[in-house]
Amino acid sequence: MPRVVVLGSSGYDLTIRLPRLPRPGETLLGGDLHRGPGGKGANAAVAARRAGAEVTFLTAFGDDDFGRMLIEHDRIEGLDLRFSKTVDASPNQVALIFVGDDGSNLIGVAPGASSALSPGDIDALPDEAFPAGGVLLACLEVPVPTVARGLARAKSGGMTTVLNPAPADLAILDGDLMRHVDYLTPNQEEAAALSGLPAMTVEQAVEAARALRDRGDCGVVVTLGALGCLVLGREWGQNLVPAPAVDAVDTVGAGDAFNGALAVALAESLPVLDAAVFATAAGSLAVTRPGAQGALATRAEIDRLLA
Ligand code: ADP
Repeated sequence: MPRVVVLGSSGYDLTIRLPRLPRPGETLLGGDLHRGPGGKGANAAVAARRAGAEVTFLTAFGDDDFGRMLIEHDRIEGLDLRFSKTVDASPNQVALIFVGDDGSNLIGVAPGASSALSPGDIDALPDEAFPAGGVLLACLEVPVPTVARGLARAKSGGMTTVLNPAPADLAILDGDLMRHVDYLTPNQEEAAALSGLPAMTVEQAVEAARALRDRGDCGVVVTLGALGCLVLGREWGQNLVPAPAVDAVDTVGAGDAFNGALAVALAESLPVLDAAVFATAAGSLAVTRPGAQGALATRAEIDRLLA
């Protein structure tokens, strides 16, 4: 089985569907409250597990009912939690999410325990947590210095590294963090924020991706929502991978689904362009169903879509 290690957040999502997204200062009445597991790290870890990998999850849970529910849930999903921790007396990460009728969303996150995952926690892990030949996927709802340490340890352990720079944080461009990244996977907003260039059109996204590649000497995969993704190799030009046409009902977690599947395909030693095709299929399946983790596709579903 391919080995994937995910370094990132475990959150609990509270979601309300509304006729449209509220404007600042506006109160809208919507549907019922939906609750469930989320957080970019956990979503990507479950996505990778369902897509066929053995997944080790490096995360921090809160010492509260949310944290305990999430640990139980992750065990049922089959994630290896041996190297995760619970932060004493800390609340768990929680996200408040609004989803509009067209599938668009607005999200605010209280990081809680995620902000307590420290570089020292990474240093304390045994080498076993960074299996050679596997893929480490990191995302940024945990502190950037912790992500930097995780990427460095993964590289020195002989892993391939993927950084999903979400939510965007310019601090990843400081120091030598980017030297330890093999593939950077921003969405369009993140590509724009990190490069300082617009990335609304495909042409603009190519320029933004080139600028980011130059910052890190890494491959760059920019996800483009309904358009699919743009792949820029370390040493070659851009390729557009179109997304299958689907009915989008909820785009929450699409990027996490994409990243989890990308990590699995890279851990299976697929070239990045083929891995991006696999990831695009997984991302597109995830938008056809409501919720974050409930929407994540299985390996059989992804293979069927690509057949
Ligand atoms: P994020 O969720 O990080 O903003 P994107 O919106 O770029 O990421 O979506 C990630 C992936 O999910 C895309 O590359 C694509 O495969 C899929 N996806 C997202 N929105 C749609 C959509 N409306 N139709 C089909 N696929 C989509």
